[in-house]
This record gives sequence, C-alpha cells and structure tokens, in this order.
Amino acid sequence: MVTTILGSGIAGLGAWYADNSAEIYEASDKAGGLCRGFEINSFYFDQAVHLSFAKDKIVRDVFDKTEQYYHHPFPYSWYKETWLRHPAQNNLFSFPTQFKIDAVKGFIERKGRENVTNFKDWLVGGYGEFLYENLFKLYNEKYWQTDLEKMDVDWIGNRIYQPDIDEVLYGSYTDETPNVYYASEMRYPKNGGYYSFIKEIADEAERQGKLHLNKKAVRVDPAAKTVFFKDGTQTKYDRLFSSVPLPEVVRMIDNAPEDIAKKAADLEHTGVALVSIGMKKTDFEKFWFYIYDTDIMAARAYMPSVKSPANAPEGCSSIQFEIYFSSKAQPPEEQATVENTLYALEKLGIATRKDVLFTDYRIMPYGNVTLLRTTEQDVPLITDWVKSQGITPIGRFGEWKYLWSDQSFLSGYNAVKE
Ligand SMILES: Cc1cc2nc3c(=O)[nH]c(=O)nc-3n(C[C@H](O)[C@H](O)[C@H](O)COP(=O)(O)OP(=O)(O)OC[C@H]3O[C@@H](n4cnc5c(N)ncnc54)[C@H](O)[C@@H]3O)c2cc1C
Repeated sequence: MVTTILGSGIAGLGAWYADNSAEIYEASDKAGGLCRGFEINSFYFDQAVHLSFAKDKIVRDVFDKTEQYYHHPFPYSWYKETWLRHPAQNNLFSFPTQFKIDAVKGFIERKGRENVTNFKDWLVGGYGEFLYENLFKLYNEKYWQTDLEKMDVDWIGNRIYQPDIDEVLYGSYTDETPNVYYASEMRYPKNGGYYSFIKEIADEAERQGKLHLNKKAVRVDPAAKTVFFKDGTQTKYDRLFSSVPLPEVVRMIDNAPEDIAKKAADLEHTGVALVSIGMKKTDFEKFWFYIYDTDIMAARAYMPSVKSPANAPEGCSSIQFEIYFSSKAQPPEEQATVENTLYALEKLGIATRKDVLFTDYRIMPYGNVTLLRTTEQDVPLITDWVKSQGITPIGRFGEWKYLWSDQSFLSGYNAVKE
C-alpha cells in the first residue's frame, strides 16, 4: 500500500506523522510550507505572525517537545494617530469625545444579527453603523481585500470579540480594561522560529528518505493512480492526500467536469506581501498590532524579536509588516510597498530610517482563503468531487478552510488515520 502526500507544510507533515511509511512530495526546496521561516543576517523571521494556541492533545504532544516561551497576548491597534488596546470596540478611551458619543450611540441602536447572512451586516448588526464605518470596515477591507457584503459569517466564531454595552462604556471611560483576547496563552519556540514545532517530523521523514523536495506535482491521473511531476518523473499511489491548493488540484486532474472546474477557478484567496525589517535598537516593544489607518498599506505587524529574543542579535530588534492583496489582483509593487512601510515605521514611532539595518520584501502567494458566501456553497461540492477521484484534500488550502496551524496538522493527521 503506497500512501502519497503532496506538500510538506504542517498538514502534509501531520499526515506523515500518522503514517511514517508514506512518501511526501514537496514542490519547494524546503519543508514546512507557511510554517517555515527565513534568516537574514542572523535575524530570524517567520512567514507572518505565527503563534500557537493549540489545545488538542495530539498536536500538543508534538509541539511541547520543543522548548518554548509562554506569552500572554497583549495586542494593540493603531488608529487615527493613536495606540489603542485591542480590541478597539472595548477600548474607545483614547478617542475624541464626539467619536465616543457616536460609537456608543450607534452601539446602543445596533439592530442585532438575526437572519444576518453576510459579514458586513454581521458587523453593522453587532456593533452599530458608526463603529462599522469608522473602524471595522477599514481593517477588514485591508485584511480581506474583498467586498464584505459578499463574505460569509460561519467562520467568525470567537475570532472577533463581541462586548456588551457595559464593556463598551467601561472602555470609553478608562484604559484599564480587561484583556479579552480569545487565547489566553500563546506559545512560541525559544529557538529556530515556529518551524521548530514540526522540524523533528520533517527531519525524520528526510532521514528515512521519505521527503522528496523540488517535486512539484503538475498532473494527477486518478484512473492510473499516478502523479506526474514538473521534472518529468511520476509515481504511483494507492492513497493520495493533497495539501495543494484546491483550485490547483482540480486543474491537475484530467477531465474535471466543467462546472467543478469553474467553481474551483472562481475561489478567491489573499496573498501576503511581507516586509521584514531588522533594527539596531531595542526600545520599542509591541508584540503585535493591527493598523486601521488607510495611509498605511499593512493591516498588521508583529515583532519576531518579542516572540523570542533569539530571533534578533544582541542590541537589535525586528518587525514584520503584513500587506494583503487579492488573488484577483497583482501583488503590490515592491519599492512603493517598502517605502510605505518605512513611512509607517516612522509615523508609528517605532524607529527612524537611521535605525534600519535592512528591509526584506517577499510574497506569500497563498495567505487566507476568502470566505465568500459562494465559497461556503461551492467548496463542499468541489471537495466531494476531488474525493470521488480518490484524492483526499488536507490542510488550509487543500480543504479551503480558515484553519490555524494546529487545525491544519490535524486535518492531515486525521485524514490518514481515517
Ligand atoms: C498571515 C497568516 C498568519 C497566521 N498565523 C497563524 C498563527 O498565529 N497561529 C497558527 O496556528 N496558524 C497561523 N496561520 C495559519 C497557518 O499558517 C496554516 O494553517 C498552516 O501553515 C497551513 O499549512 P498547510 O500545510 O495546510 O499549507 P501550506 O503551509 O501552504 O503547505 C502546503 C505545501 O504544499 C506545497 N505545494 C503546493 N503546491 C504543490 C504541488 N503542486 N506539488 C507539491 N507540493 C506543493 C507547498 O510548497 C507547501 O509546502 C497563519 C496564516 C497566515 C497566512
């Protein structure tokens, strides 16, 4: 029985952890996918924020073998020239009086969420028109890069905090508000970045000769149970698990029905342009923060050197900005994006250009799957068809779901175990 896994991100490695006899084929020259980071001049950066709040025992058994820091999340927001505690809806204290009056009035007059079917109405219904227009719309349009009215609501869960009126009022009068972030503890490896959590699995697969790098799958023939690679080689399988993005898998399978091919091609996602900066200073420290103001392209930034001091050399610190773009658009132009990020660095009081040792710009073509209402209807149809071809989709982009890394690991692990 030959078990084949496409992709060695955390989902592919989770699948291999469940069955060590499987063969993994990875398009790039490194394992780890999005959970892999990179090093520049002794600075280590992850690919976007990456902290673990895994609860599941199977994942914790794997992650907890790595020496780690236990952080208590304390995020901030930058909005209208001011630092606010996060989430802003609970922390209106620093806003001008009229803003607070309008926000509280709007919150009291909110219509609720009964029968709400799209993200915009969910936000307006839950927080009121004023907070939507002046707060939520700004950030969410930057982050999702799509029309919020087209987005579904099922994915939200506890990801966006819903205060009651007492909490909104309390946060308008004082900045001493309780921390309501949805995870009370966030974990991060002491050394080697987020990838350290799964490095041992990848190393073991490599030691056993089961991890095949630089093997980009380009075609699958389900009838002949064969995967074809870009380098002209092929392999036969009995069971196939794929963390390749769902639209690409459909394109890879011979003779996909027209309606499935169309639905798959219509799926949207965001990519992320990362601007990573090494700084020769250590006096600014904010773990991570959200940026609402539209003169700044980045939606979010975090400091790798706060996640672990090992991520930056002595006397230095580091920061990484996340700039989102739609899969329907081109990635933002490098020079303008880096320039805008340096402008943000100065405007937010983080550092001056003289403190900057280097900037690095790179693109992650797949960041978040965009959870449109059509996506929620189409993805089950597409995945059912892919499964009917004997291919099990796994992971964030295989399943086309908004999965955290631990959920992606389990997606691979459970699929193989089942
Ligand atoms: C901005 C951002 C922040 C995040 N922050 C967190 C966080 O704080 N905490 C958390 O738990 N999670 C976080 N996540 C989520 C986490 O990154 C994902 O859930 C997880 O990394 C997805 O793993 P995966 O294996 O499914 O996909 P990927 O990591 O994308 O792996 C897929 C692999 O398949 C390979 N591949 C693609 N096509 C082919 C092909 N044709 N042939 C062979 N191989 C192929 C790719 O090279 C890649 O290695 C974040 C994600 C983003 C985008």
